[in-house]
Amino acid sequence: MAKNVLVTGSSRGIGRETAILLAKEGYNVAINYNKSEDKAKEVLEECLSYGVKAIAIKADVSDFKAVEKMFVNIIEEFGSIDILINNAGIAVAKQFQDYDPSEWHEIIGTNLNGMYHCAYFALKDMMKRHEGVIINLSSIFGITGAAMEVPYSTSKGAVIAFTKSLAREFGYSGIRINSVAPGGIDTDMVANVKDDDLDAFLEEVPLGRLGKPIEIANLISFLVSDKASYITGQIISPNGGWLI
Ligand code: NAP
Repeated sequence: MAKNVLVTGSSRGIGRETAILLAKEGYNVAINYNKSEDKAKEVLEECLSYGVKAIAIKADVSDFKAVEKMFVNIIEEFGSIDILINNAGIAVAKQFQDYDPSEWHEIIGTNLNGMYHCAYFALKDMMKRHEGVIINLSSIFGITGAAMEVPYSTSKGAVIAFTKSLAREFGYSGIRINSVAPGGIDTDMVANVKDDDLDAFLEEVPLGRLGKPIEIANLISFLVSDKASYITGQIISPNGGWLI
């Protein structure tokens, strides 16, 4: 029977590519978005074209009640949730002293609390069957830290501890939880980086280029599959050799 997956933040970027790849591979896909309704509809159409079940749901992952409603909707449509890809995230780059406190709370609220909200409801359902898989998108900055990205890096570092702790707690229940911590990937999130800064960055990347969203989606597809059945609690960083 086809497994049911939720990909948060799948209207664009890595989430979009992941939702489409998993639909191609035969999973039923719940597409989540916050602002980009038209783009989410395009992803929905493409997923449906592979003959699987698919739905698109608007929900701000930083809002506990909205996430609760999204899961009620998914369970009504699909019956269960087997796989959660906690992907939705935002980044704002500036000097630490220049962040308004509301920006700090928005970044932590989306990147960290959002993952907590979704894992909370997904695990409730997964525990009924004692099986399931969760992938949390961290970032290389969650490992190394990054100047001009303190709140983002803080949220992504916390996602790593969150992943390891959940894996220790839920492994005994047959649920695998891993994190993917990419380097620079060619999406809207890096679209505003100035050419000079990008060139300087790429000089430090042995593969000499940004990653493509599909390269992250391919890793996620492996991690959620039975081929990765003995992998849990791991932080895997596809980064072109930037961090070795
Ligand atoms: P992106 O292209 O900017 O897309 C972000 C996605 O997240 C969009 O679909 C957006 O949906 C959704 N989103 C944002 N806030 C949301 C909220 N409050 N509720 C629900 N959805 C929300 O970003 P990306 O590069 O694909 O990044 C995806 C994940 O990978 C993020 O967690 C990011 O931190 C991580 N990552 C990215 C890179 C990189 O270089 N790109 C590197 C390391 C880690 P709407 O447009 O509908 O709001």
